[in-house]
Amino acid sequence: MANLGYIQVVRHCNHFCGFCSNPATPYTHDLASMQPLVDDFVARGYFGVILTGGEPTLHPELPAIARYARDRGLHVRLITNGTRLADPAFARELAQAGVQLAHVSIYSVVAAVEAELRGVDGTLERARAALDAAHAAGIEVNVNTVINRRNADHLDHTVRVLTRDHPQVRHFVWNNLDPSMGRAEVNQARFTPRLADFELSLERAMRHLHRTGRTFRVEKVPLCYMGSFPEASTETRKIVKSEERIVHFLDAKQTVRQTAWDHVYADGCRACTLRDICGGLFDRGQAYDPAELAPQFVDRDAIVKKIIEDPGDPAYPLRDLAAWKQAFAARQRAGDTSGLAIDAGLPVGTVTPQGERLYQAKRRREAVLAREGDIAQEPDVSEG
Ligand code: SF4
Repeated sequence: MANLGYIQVVRHCNHFCGFCSNPATPYTHDLASMQPLVDDFVARGYFGVILTGGEPTLHPELPAIARYARDRGLHVRLITNGTRLADPAFARELAQAGVQLAHVSIYSVVAAVEAELRGVDGTLERARAALDAAHAAGIEVNVNTVINRRNADHLDHTVRVLTRDHPQVRHFVWNNLDPSMGRAEVNQARFTPRLADFELSLERAMRHLHRTGRTFRVEKVPLCYMGSFPEASTETRKIVKSEERIVHFLDAKQTVRQTAWDHVYADGCRACTLRDICGGLFDRGQAYDPAELAPQFVDRDAIVKKIIEDPGDPAYPLRDLAAWKQAFAARQRAGDTSGLAIDAGLPVGTVTPQGERLYQAKRRREAVLAREGDIAQEPDVSEG
């Protein structure tokens, strides 16, 4: 199974997105505190590690932890806003350190929308430059987009422009907004989309990518809003393939191991033929409306076959539908819906006096940006 683990290497950022679900904390990592987390992924047989944040390129030891993870045999990825990665010399340094794939975050190619969502100027040009700088350095590039109220109606436009101008981008990832944490929680009403807001533009975007031979994944979107491509749902793929995900949060949550991918369902879901492979409605934060769900009456196994026969995941062992059905039924009988489990034993970063000082300085700077952008600031999480 191609499990991927996440390490938040920093929690501060050079952007100020109003829906950031992982804003600054006083916790800090160094190479020595990250290495055991990498070792744990290796011991669990994980395929790769995703270095994320905050903005991971702000950590001075990012190349060192990338090199360490690569030397230990992991596929090394990065989720970045691209502001630093746009520097060709830095892109080359990361490539030489072992970064193989960069997910560059772009919300919209409409400059005014991107600027409003980022809270600082000039980010779109830098992110687009990062797509080219990383590619030139030999790093594969994808685009990550958080679906939100401001970009929901033109996801397809963004995809068309980016694939036209950056043909090296072969894969897109959409994450519907997680309204349950950080700044996203206190700005829910402003940024959380209705599912119907993006249904059409997401379908058009996926069709464009499919037509041009590209691939894509969509997370936190129920199957009744996945249009012609339910097999691209991240939750469905993980349910079908029984995959897990570990995230090492650089905050009080510490380590979260997710083994179940179901959220909440409406009464009508009971009649839906996709119920047992659908993640349902992302419920944390209670910002989405179950009344928007609509039962589907389509062939579940046709979707399953597309996932288990996908040559893009050579590690998945159960290629045969009958064998998959047997294994899936056994998992359901065993009640494999354990939700979130916390792994104890691996400390994730530390809160130091210097970390506290940096955090407070960051909060003061962000308070100014919050006032300018009319954004609510998340609660202070300092311990001092
Ligand atoms: S109706 Fe419910 S089970 Fe069916 S696709 Fe929608 S959310 Fe999933």
